[in-house]
Formats: sequence, structure tokens, C-alpha cells
Amino acid sequence: MAPTPPRVIPRAEHIVSRSHISPNALRVLYRLRDAGFQAFLVGGCVRDLLLGLDPKDFDVATDALPEQVKRLFRNCRLVGRRFRLAHVFFGQETIEVATFRASTAPSQGEEPEIEEEEVEEAEGEEGEILDLGGPVTEPRAARYEATHAPVGVIQEGDLDPDAVRMFDETGRILRDNVYGTINDDVWRRDFTANSLYYNVADFSIWDYVGGVEDIAARRLRLIGDPETRYREDPVRMLRAARFEAKLGFQIDPATAEPIARLRELLGGVPPARLFDETLKLFLTGHGARSLEVLRRRGLLTALMPNVEAYLARHPGSLVEKLLLKGLANTDARVGAGRPVAPTFLLSVLLYGPIAQIIEAMPPSRWHELSAILEACDQAVREAQTHIAIPKRLALGVREMFAMQPRLEYPRGRRALRLLAHPKFRAGYDLLLLRAEFGMASSDVARWWTQLQEASGEERERMADAQGQGGERPAGQKSRRRRRPRRRAPGPT
Ligand code: ATP
Ligand code: MG
Repeated sequence: MAPTPPRVIPRAEHIVSRSHISPNALRVLYRLRDAGFQAFLVGGCVRDLLLGLDPKDFDVATDALPEQVKRLFRNCRLVGRRFRLAHVFFGQETIEVATFRASTAPSQGEEPEIEEEEVEEAEGEEGEILDLGGPVTEPRAARYEATHAPVGVIQEGDLDPDAVRMFDETGRILRDNVYGTINDDVWRRDFTANSLYYNVADFSIWDYVGGVEDIAARRLRLIGDPETRYREDPVRMLRAARFEAKLGFQIDPATAEPIARLRELLGGVPPARLFDETLKLFLTGHGARSLEVLRRRGLLTALMPNVEAYLARHPGSLVEKLLLKGLANTDARVGAGRPVAPTFLLSVLLYGPIAQIIEAMPPSRWHELSAILEACDQAVREAQTHIAIPKRLALGVREMFAMQPRLEYPRGRRALRLLAHPKFRAGYDLLLLRAEFGMASSDVARWWTQLQEASGEERERMADAQGQGGERPAGQKSRRRRRPRRRAPGPT
């Protein structure tokens, strides 16, 4: 493609201020610039800054090769296989630095850019509590250190011997089959709004694709021919839905039209990638809107067909209300910068399918623990055919549902032990939701709330008072079939 000059929007004509850019991202940009490379912020962060939003992360694009980036930053690791990326670490913040991609490079998102071990790290010590997005945190200690290796020079070993590359007289790479120039890089991106470059050399914005205008019109438009772009990477359909939900943009008609025809192509996407997209759709602060957009665009079927089937068959049901409220609660947590639990999300999404499986069993089994567990396993298995739910989360769903009868019928001091269960908080949140929609006693939900607020001594008193209801009579399997003697627990 003949190089197209970008429209350059000078600093005086746009609102992106350095005071809104992560200091670490600025450090990376300055260092690359000072070493003689081109360096731009690119993608979602430029879009969000233009919208006055707080970007969730900052991505950098450069003409420096990954190995050259690595030499500039000691706190740097190269990731990715065919297309290598540099991750520069600053305490909790990671700045991703990508060399401009050539037109033959694998597309963004085509291969996992984050290695398994890093995903584990990102999930933190609390097991499955994820902190996706939220405001950018200041680094605890900026471990920004430079090595003294010469930079800006291509050294032996920097280049893949199989790659065909062209260089200009300064050794700057012009073209190869993996890395390219900014002029190649831009066309590989998905939406015009995601394809703006903020140039650290003069703080201007480079726009090759009309992205600035589309952002101003709050319009989501794929670069190039939409059908071709979806066929290249069907995940772009989910990304369209995500940005529609997140940004409230209108999807341009030509970009929206092929989705209904092509959504089946998502069946060919690796389930692990679809699972990642599911988390981004539902755990980054706009989950309730994501559900609405996914359903309207016929995309929920591609991710969780059993959830779509349940909702379609039971419009306006209590389960749907519970799901919407669960998503709204999760969105509120993200908005407040609090961590969110994927297990809780999966439990509210799968609530309908699980309930339906239980209801299809003989009524005598409805309240058996084994029935609850079987239903959880089956609903997760159905979902697994599309999205790769990690085993640990599948077990978490089981634990949350298995905990419900124990929460509903607390028995003496055993209740106190439940407080220490690693899934207690998520299980309690589910109990509160169920109580809100009449699926569990609100008295008992309140009792658990008070129990958590009480001092140690007070807790024991509450638990003992609760325990006076006595053990279940021997031989009675189901506690739920009869009204518990003490539904409204203790005084206070
Ligand atoms: P978010 O705010 O959710 O992080 P984002 O636009 O930054 O949104 P990322 O998934 O972080 O999304 O991707 C960064 C950039 O990489 C995008 O803005 C886009 O330019 C490009 N990109 C990501 N995935 C794809 C894809 N599947 N096809 C083409 N370009 C993509
Ligand atoms: Mg991003």
C-alpha cells in the first residue's frame, strides 16, 4: 500500500494532556525518543484520553525492535512468539511496547500476548479475585532503570534470520515480514477510534483513518471492508459489542451489518480467547450493558448458548433480574476500584441454566447437595464447549452453590467456620441477591450481614442462638423442604 500521510492534529488542537498520561508511560516514551526512536501512545488509551476517560492501560508503539527496547529498560521482558512484544514493568503497572507491525504480521490478539504465568500473576494472591481495569494505580516503587548497552543500533541477534527486511541508511527498519512502519501498523488495527497515535516528539495526534472524527461523532467503524476484517478475526465482533457497551458508541451500519451473518465464525475461535473476551465484557465496569448489547446482536449465543437459551425462554424472569442486578453490582464494584470475582460472575450468568437442570430432576432431589453439584457441573460443561472456564473457577461455582443451603440454614457455631471459607464473600453476595428476589429468606441474609459486623463475642452469641434451633432430625435429608424452626435469627 502506498504510504498515506496522516492527518496531524497539533497539541494546541486536541485535549490530550500529559497530566492525564501515566508517568510510567511517559518515561517509556521519553526514553525511546531520547534513544532516537519513534514512540507513540496508541490504541484504547488515546481513544479514552480524547473522550476524557481514564485509560485502563497505556500501550506504546515504536520503530525500535523488541530487542532494542529490551536493552533500553532493565525492567523489561519480551513476550509473544511470532510477534514479540516488550512488557516494561513498574511496580503494578505494565507498559506494553509493540514494534510497528507489517501487514503480514499476526494480527493483534491472534496469539496470546500475555503468557500463562503472567495471567496467574495478574490474578493475585487472593486466588481468583481479579482487578481488571479501574483507575490507573500509581506505581509503588518505580523500578525504572536503564542499562548502558548501546541503543538505536541493530545488533547481531536482534533480527530473525528468516525475515526479509529493508533498512534505510541509518539502519532503521523499513519493512520486513513481521515488523513494519507506522504506515503498515495502522491498517492492521480494528476500529478507527482505536487507531490513533499520540506522538511523543511533539505531542501531536496522527490520524490515518478518520478516527478523531469518529470519536467526536461517537461512532465505531472498522477499518477496511467489515466482512473481510471479521473473517480475518471473528473476535472483532465481540470487540465491537464491547466498545458499544463500554463507550456507548453507535456501531456504524456497515460495521454492524455483517455481525448477524458472521457470528457463527466465533465457533472457530479458541475457547481460551473467548473466555478472556467474556471477562473483558463482564468484569470491566459495563457488564450489564454488555449483556444487553450481546443479546441484541445475537452474540451471547456464541459465548454462552445455555445462558442465551435460558433468557430467551424465560423473558422477564426472576433469574434474569438476578443476573442483571448481579452484573450491576459488579459494575459498581469496578467503578469504586474494588476487586471483582470471576466466580461470582459465572454463578450469576449460569444461575438460570443451573436452576433449569435441577428443575428437570425429580422433585425429591431438588434440595440434595448432589443434585446442586451435578447441575453446576453440567451447566459449566455446556459453557465449556465455547469458553474455556479454568477449572479453579468451575470449582468456585460449585462451592458457591453448595454453600447456599448452608448459608440459608446456619447451624450454631458451624456458621462461624463458614465465615472463614475462601468463597464466603462470593457465596454471601449470591445469597443477598437471591434474597433480594425472594429466592432466599431476607431475614437470614440480614443475619449474615449482622454476623460479619459483630465482634467475636457477639458472633458466638448469635451463632449459639441460631444453633438452639437444633440439629436436623436424623434421616431428614432436605433442610429446605420444611421451614426451618428459626428463620428469623436471634434478637438485635
Ligand atoms: P481497552 O480499553 O479495553 O483496553 P483497547 O482498544 O486498548 O481497549 P486492547 O485489547 O487493549 O483494546 O488492544 C489495544 C489495541 O490493539 C486496540 O486499540 C487496537 O488498535 C488493537 N487491537 C486489539 N485487538 C485487535 C484485533 N483483534 N484486531 C485488530 N486490532 C486489534
Ligand atoms: Mg488497551
